[in-house]
Amino acid sequence: MKDTFKHKGLRQQLVNVVKAKGIVDEAVLKAIGKVPRHLFMDSSFLDHAYQDKAFPIAADQTISQPYTVAFQTELLQVNNGDKILEIGTGCGYQTAVLCELGAKVYSIERQNELFKITSKFLPKLGYRAKKLIFGDGYKGLPEEAPFDGIIVTAGAPFVPKPLLGQLKIGGRLVIPVGNDVQVMNLFIRKGAKEFEQHELGEFRFVPMLEDKN
Ligand code: SAH
Repeated sequence: MKDTFKHKGLRQQLVNVVKAKGIVDEAVLKAIGKVPRHLFMDSSFLDHAYQDKAFPIAADQTISQPYTVAFQTELLQVNNGDKILEIGTGCGYQTAVLCELGAKVYSIERQNELFKITSKFLPKLGYRAKKLIFGDGYKGLPEEAPFDGIIVTAGAPFVPKPLLGQLKIGGRLVIPVGNDVQVMNLFIRKGAKEFEQHELGEFRFVPMLEDKN
């Protein structure tokens, strides 16, 4: 598992691309510049690792596009020490970006194969999430709530109520909502039952699936 000057150079170019597309948060850009994305992909795809594109990984899933990861992370406004819930761990790239920002990350993945691979892989890179969970993200994680932020990295057909309910007052939920195409939604909790909602452009994610059990 090597991270060479060549990789660092390619990563800096990626940071510039993401910046040119409108990401301004310096902490987020720094995190994108630090996480060795090529190590999250099969080594034969090295040429693709630092392009600003989503890419297929195991179990019919994808590693999210770096711009999308940066966009969602910027909306989340992560402060050092914040408690963040991620739905859709996948290969753990977004998880690693959140760890770089000093978040205490809880992340849920519904595919056992990916959950197992990523649980072993992230610590090898030094990324220690508070908890990686094999389970159904639609329920959130009531036993650890409330959260400063919740980020959903799969396309949700609707906004799951438990996720809104597990936010602190002032907390943020970043969730792509829709079936074929998703609209990025930001909810900010203003009170027990009050939420501010923003819609921020179209994206395409793999679907957030409901549990078969
Ligand atoms: N965060 C990842 C993106 C992974 S793709 C990255 O940084 O690249 C989305 C992931 O969401 C897939 O791994 C998929 O299995 C998972 N997923 C889909 N529905 C889910 C659900 N209901 N609960 C938890 N994870 C889910």
